[in-house]
Amino acid sequence: MNILVTGGAGFIGSHTIIELYKAGHTVVVVDNLSNSSKESLRRVAELAGVEKIPFYPVDIRDREGLNKVMESHTFDACIHFAGLKAVGESVEKPWEYYENNINGTLVLLDVMRKHNCKNIIFSSSATVYGDPAVIPITEECPKGHCTNPYGQTKSMLEEILMDIQKADPEWNVVLLRYFNPIGAHPSGRIGEDPQGIPNNLMPYITQVAVGKRAELGVFGNDYDTPDGTGVRDFIHVVDLATGHVKALQAIQRQCGISIYNLGTGHGYSVLDLVKAFQSATGITIPYSIKARRPGDIATCYSNPAKAERELGWKAQNGINEMCRDAWNWQRQNPEGYKA
Ligand code: NAD
Ligand code: UDP
Repeated sequence: MNILVTGGAGFIGSHTIIELYKAGHTVVVVDNLSNSSKESLRRVAELAGVEKIPFYPVDIRDREGLNKVMESHTFDACIHFAGLKAVGESVEKPWEYYENNINGTLVLLDVMRKHNCKNIIFSSSATVYGDPAVIPITEECPKGHCTNPYGQTKSMLEEILMDIQKADPEWNVVLLRYFNPIGAHPSGRIGEDPQGIPNNLMPYITQVAVGKRAELGVFGNDYDTPDGTGVRDFIHVVDLATGHVKALQAIQRQCGISIYNLGTGHGYSVLDLVKAFQSATGITIPYSIKARRPGDIATCYSNPAKAERELGWKAQNGINEMCRDAWNWQRQNPEGYKA
């Protein structure tokens, strides 16, 4: 299949492109580089063994720009990663988040349907479950209240996509609800490259390990969890990437609408991850306990059985590989792609 990949220069997109090539697909990337750099695509080409990844520096809100891309290529499906994703920033800048993520997706969908490409895989998030009613979380678990505008955009976009599919059954929509992607390509050539102080746990840990930050702040140790710190379902980004390749099968069998959790089904606490990182790398991570972070929940992990049953997809990497590969990337690229 020929796939339009929006946001393909970013963390998850870049890893997914490699898996798409491996499976024999081709891609065209659209990214405004607001949170990424062209260097990632240069390295992706190297890893995929192709000369160049076809790339347009286009914003998905730019209707004319997108039109030109879709006039120049024929696409079987779109994998839609493009979006702003920083939870804290979304609280400060709600307008910017709603405008970029929702308006951007509406423009994309309109241009897609005008070119008769009605197959889309959307990057959703476990955040749509809010404080989950059931653990482990199945896809039947009711959606919950999102405590921030970023989460709201994911939840609203799921509804928008479902309504559009309902009104026009020619659409096939796959909603992938990611749990906590960490790690990096085992080569250490591509990985997560956060700008400024990392919001997420693993990039914070690797920056402490590389000496860029003094210590990790652990946000709360008084949750109702085995060690009091938050429990999450960390998943290796390469496993998440292969989940997208498998999700194309749902598109091929004209699924209408399909929803899948992409997680491992295992919950690890913040301190479990610190310990796993230390034993995978031999580096001690100093930490201190801080106040809870507003909006955080105690426990979130998936039941990933539906993706295994219907797509034959299952995460292959454990916490040790996640830590090893995250460190391998950070160690080789202490300044991310800037170096
Ligand atoms: P990322 O920021 O690395 O990648 C997103 C890419 O989209 C970036 O390259 C950015 O430049 C691009 N982009 C943003 N707005 C754009 C626009 N208007 N037009 C064109 N390009 C635009 O993030 P990621 O971690 O790779 O996440 C990919 C997707 O998965 C996002 O939609 C994110 O919300 C979702 N997601 C991520 C996580 C996570 O923990 N990383 C969890 C759940 C869901
Ligand atoms: N966390 C932490 N210190 C940090 C960043 C995160 O203790 O510097 C905790 C956070 O409170 C949560 C877990 O790590 O319990 C995962 O947070 P992250 O932001 O990585 O992902 P989230 O699950 O919030 O999307």
